[in-house]
Amino acid sequence: MIVQDVVCYLFGRAGFDRAAQGILGAGRRLADSLGEKLRAAVLGPADDALTAGAQAVADTVVLAEDAPLEEYHPENFLTALATICNQLQPTAVLLGNDTYSQELAPRLAHRLGGSAASDAVEVVAEGGQLRVTRGVYGGKATAVIALCRSPGVVWVRARAMAPADPTGRPAGEVQRLKLGLKADERVKVVSRHVEAKEGVPLEEARLIVSGGRGLGGPEPFKELQALAKAMGAQMAASRAACDAGWVPPSWQVGQTGKKVAPELYMAIAISGASQHIMGIADAKVICAINRDPDAPIFKHCRFGLVEDYQKVVGPLRDKLSRHS
Ligand SMILES: Cc1cc2nc3c(=O)[nH]c(=O)nc-3n(C[C@H](O)[C@H](O)[C@H](O)COP(=O)(O)OP(=O)(O)OC[C@H]3O[C@@H](n4cnc5c(N)ncnc54)[C@H](O)[C@@H]3O)c2cc1C
Repeated sequence: MIVQDVVCYLFGRAGFDRAAQGILGAGRRLADSLGEKLRAAVLGPADDALTAGAQAVADTVVLAEDAPLEEYHPENFLTALATICNQLQPTAVLLGNDTYSQELAPRLAHRLGGSAASDAVEVVAEGGQLRVTRGVYGGKATAVIALCRSPGVVWVRARAMAPADPTGRPAGEVQRLKLGLKADERVKVVSRHVEAKEGVPLEEARLIVSGGRGLGGPEPFKELQALAKAMGAQMAASRAACDAGWVPPSWQVGQTGKKVAPELYMAIAISGASQHIMGIADAKVICAINRDPDAPIFKHCRFGLVEDYQKVVGPLRDKLSRHS
C-alpha cells in the first residue's frame, strides 16, 4: 500500500466541536500508525476555533473558501473535496456522521475510484489494507471490513472517537486553496427552513430525556420537557414518536436519526428496537422506564424501572425541581 496522507473533512462553519475533535483524533491515530501526514480539509468559510483546533492536531490545515462553498451544496462540496483528494492522493479520507458527510462519503469514493464504509467505530491499517469496524444487523453484531481499493473513504462515529492529545505537537501549517470552483446549477436551494434550537445540539448533550410511542401523543411530551428542564437535559425521541408528528424530526435518535453519546440517556416508553439502540450505543448510562418487563430496552439499560411512566415522570420532576 502506498500511503500518502490521511485527510479529514470538516465543515467550515461547525466550530471545533466534539465531532471535529473525534474525526481528527481518528485521523491522527491512523496517520501516526502509518507514519504519515494528517491533513484537515476545511470546506466553506473557516471558523477560527475550528482552524485553530485543527492546527493543533493536523500537520496541515487546507482551507477551501471558494464562493460556491459559502453554503452547503452537495455537488459543489463533492467537487471541492474530490479536487483536493486528487491533488493529495490520500490513502484514507475520514468524514463525520453528520448528514452532509453521510451524503458525500459514498459519492466521493465513487469519484475517486476508492472504497466506502459507513458508521465506523474504528479504522486501522493492517496487512496493507484499511480495516473498518462497524455495527451490522441493527447493531446486534460487529463486522470488520477490509477496504480493497484506495482511497478508503470512511464516515466515522465522530463523537465516539477519542480526541487526539495535541500536547507537544507544533501547530499545523495553514494552506489556503483556490480551487477555481464553478457553482453547479443542477441543484438549487429553493427555500430554507431554520428550526429554532434551544440549548446544546443533541449530539453534544450530557443529559438526554427521550420519549417513545408509549407516551401516546404530543401532550405527554410536555411533561417530559418539564422533567428535562428540571434536569438541565435535552429532549429526544424515537422514530415512532417523530413519524407520528408529535415532536420534530430533529429529535430522532437511532440508525436513521442522531447518534448521541450523553452521560445519561433516559428512555421513557421506548421499546428499545435495535434501530433505536444504534443511536444510543455510546451513552454512558441508559435508564429506562417501561411498563412492559419484557421490553428489549431492559437488556441495554443500567437502570430499569417497570412502571407506567405517568406514575414516575411527575414525581421525579417535582423532586428534582425542589432540589434545583
Ligand atoms: C430501516 C429502519 C430504520 C429505523 N430507524 C430508527 C431510528 O433511527 N430510531 C428509532 O427510534 N427507530 C427507528 N426505526 C424504527 C424502530 O424499528 C421502531 O419501530 C421504533 O424505534 C419504535 O419506537 P418506540 O420504541 O417509541 O415504539 P414502540 O416499539 O411502539 O414501543 C413503545 C413502548 O412504550 C411502552 N409503553 C406503552 N405505554 C407505556 C406507559 N404508559 N408507560 C411506560 N411504558 C409504556 C411499551 O411497553 C413499549 O415498549 C427504524 C426502523 C427501520 C426499519
